[in-house]
Amino acid sequence: MTTATTLEREDTCLYCGGDGYYQLLLGGSETCESCGGTGKKTQED
Ligand SMILES: [Zn+2]
Repeated sequence: MTTATTLEREDTCLYCGGDGYYQLLLGGSETCESCGGTGKKTQED
């Protein structure tokens, strides 16, 4: 197994996959509320 994908980082938002937004099935996109569009995983302590 190799991890060649650069976007596959531990600090990548798990909800949007690092894109910062969701791809809607009906078309268009919606900003990821989890990371606020940054695409990075937020840590809540
Ligand atoms: Zn996100």
